[in-house]
Amino acid sequence: MQLTLWTYEGPPHVGAMRIATAMTDLHYVLHAPQGDTYADLLFTMIERLPKRPPVTYTTFQARDLGGDTAQLFKNAAKESFERFKPQAMIVGASCTAELIQDDPGGLSKALNLPIPVIPLELPSYQKKENWGASETFYQIVRHLTVQDTKIAAATHISQRQEKLAAGKKPSCNILGPTALGFRHRDDIKEVSKMLTMLGIEINVVAPQSASPSDITRIPQADFNVVLYPEIAQTTASWLSRMYGQPFTKVVPIGVNASIDFMKEVAQLAGISEEKVLKEIKSNSSWYARSVDSTYLTGKRVFIFGDATHVIAAARISRDEMGFQVVGMGTYSREFAKDVREAAKSYGLEAIITDDYLEVEEKVAELSPELVLGTQMERHIAKRLGVPCAVISAPVHVQDFPARYAPQMGFEGANVIFDTWIHPLMMGLEEHLIMMFREDFEFNSNVPASHLGHVGAASASSHQVTEAAPYFELEVPVVDQEQPDKKEEFDTQQQSTTQQSSVDQAVWSADALKELGKIPFFVRGKARRNTEKYAIEHGMQQITLETLYDAKAYYSR
Ligand code: SF4
Repeated sequence: MQLTLWTYEGPPHVGAMRIATAMTDLHYVLHAPQGDTYADLLFTMIERLPKRPPVTYTTFQARDLGGDTAQLFKNAAKESFERFKPQAMIVGASCTAELIQDDPGGLSKALNLPIPVIPLELPSYQKKENWGASETFYQIVRHLTVQDTKIAAATHISQRQEKLAAGKKPSCNILGPTALGFRHRDDIKEVSKMLTMLGIEINVVAPQSASPSDITRIPQADFNVVLYPEIAQTTASWLSRMYGQPFTKVVPIGVNASIDFMKEVAQLAGISEEKVLKEIKSNSSWYARSVDSTYLTGKRVFIFGDATHVIAAARISRDEMGFQVVGMGTYSREFAKDVREAAKSYGLEAIITDDYLEVEEKVAELSPELVLGTQMERHIAKRLGVPCAVISAPVHVQDFPARYAPQMGFEGANVIFDTWIHPLMMGLEEHLIMMFREDFEFNSNVPASHLGHVGAASASSHQVTEAAPYFELEVPVVDQEQPDKKEEFDTQQQSTTQQSSVDQAVWSADALKELGKIPFFVRGKARRNTEKYAIEHGMQQITLETLYDAKAYYSR
């Protein structure tokens, strides 16, 4: 058992639903208890799709358990085939149905339906949503492509070269975009644009918008573009073994990665990218170099999310924004190795966890100036008073925006630049607050004024300003003027003299006042360093002197 309040991913059958909902003319029959239809809302409310997911649930109840639940499943499968007339069906069980061990695969085989029926084995107690999506996509492609055409990679290459020499355009599939994917809708457009600019034809985009008959055409392409390794890497590896199709490894998030992606794609297609790349102008590259962005240099950033977006965000942070990556990690256990390797190149050890409390602890410990994460990190950052931008699923409804908002390609890089910079205080305000700390309206206890209503609310009510969660100091303080507290402090001190080490140091009022003069965005870090210094040196009280000693100690 694991006590869980928030979970980064849903159960694997939600992953399967993401594939089914992305596709057309495919139906999913899910053996599941009454109530599991809640998952429909992810698609109709969060993604705001104008249709119900193509899923039929058996919705068995407690009283059905004494009867024939297998028959219930057979009826549901038969009826959904008759009603929806899909080209193919996937069948499987949710967590509870897994326990009653009816066999959806075997039961549908017995029905002898005149379409391909693909059984899914999704271990709900070991695996999660992205794995479920990846496995479902793989099983669909595996079952629907014609396997007797298996060819070796060398044959595939020579066939491609012949086609190219005969003047036929190179072609590729785009693999990975699903329903409920973070910006998948717009990433497809952006990546398609890049491929078209290079003169590459797009054979099939899948699973998004693909029908089972489209899936059968996948082997006809020269190579595969993998947009989201969490979803499509297993399938792409299998396609490469089966049909000799190579696949891309670079995910085009960020300007540098988009350039690398175009080079990689051009190489796989056997064409040149130079002319196309010369024509590309990137706003975000110039914006990041423009003098207004100088104040971004060295900003300490913490990054968390799925592996693909975290690895990409770290690269952009360091190489395109000039930030300092102080922490990174992922909840994607299947891609932990990749994130660990990426983290090493920033001199960091990656955090691999799906426990948001562990992430929160790390953010508090590192005191970053910006958090890039999921919806969970948005809550964590809010509590800790740190600016935050969302870079990865899981996300709320506002991250399925009406406007065009890709993350991939050159337009994606523009979107990213604006999104990440937005929560940060602008340069001039940051500078002025450091000079004039006492201002009633613009001070370090209120958020950046360009964030509008929050700042205004804080400024218009003194009480709100004091209670605002932003940049608060929550440290125990000894007030020398109050003998009672002083006494308490002394008693505490006496009791701790028995211990060999001190585990909490208390701030004196003047030291705390001095701490308040440190610019808010590095104050948390200064506070933690000073406390650490005091504890390590056996001090129970932090005085002005301790503060300066700690500063000198850490700046050595
Ligand atoms: S079957 Fe799984 S997804 Fe459905 S309610 Fe039970 S635990 Fe949740």
